[in-house]
Amino acid sequence: MKIAFRKIPPQNAPFEINYEAVTFKGNFKRDSKFVDVVGKILGEAILPCDRCGADVRVSFDEEVHVKVSDGYYEGEDLDIIENHESHVDFDQIARSEVEALKAEYHYCETCKNIEG
Ligand SMILES: [Zn+2]
Repeated sequence: MKIAFRKIPPQNAPFEINYEAVTFKGNFKRDSKFVDVVGKILGEAILPCDRCGADVRVSFDEEVHVKVSDGYYEGEDLDIIENHESHVDFDQIARSEVEALKAEYHYCETCKNIEG
């Protein structure tokens, strides 16, 4: 789902994106220079245990708040996503947020109990 910057309303509008077995849903609105995207990632993934490689079912329930800038952004805020295509790409936000969650460490029940 892509929405042009100039068409993004100043009031909250809902969105819902499905990426693999995960749903990213919430609201977006225009906020001065940025588009504010506030939502939640809910769902699960099967990932290899980072210690033994066994399949681990990982559940996601994560609040996400990102701002998308229309064009180049010079500030220090790390939660800002720069955008040069004059639209907000919600699929891409969902993908990068879910991939970041997957990149964290995950351990199976056995390995969780080994770690002290
Ligand atoms: Zn393990």
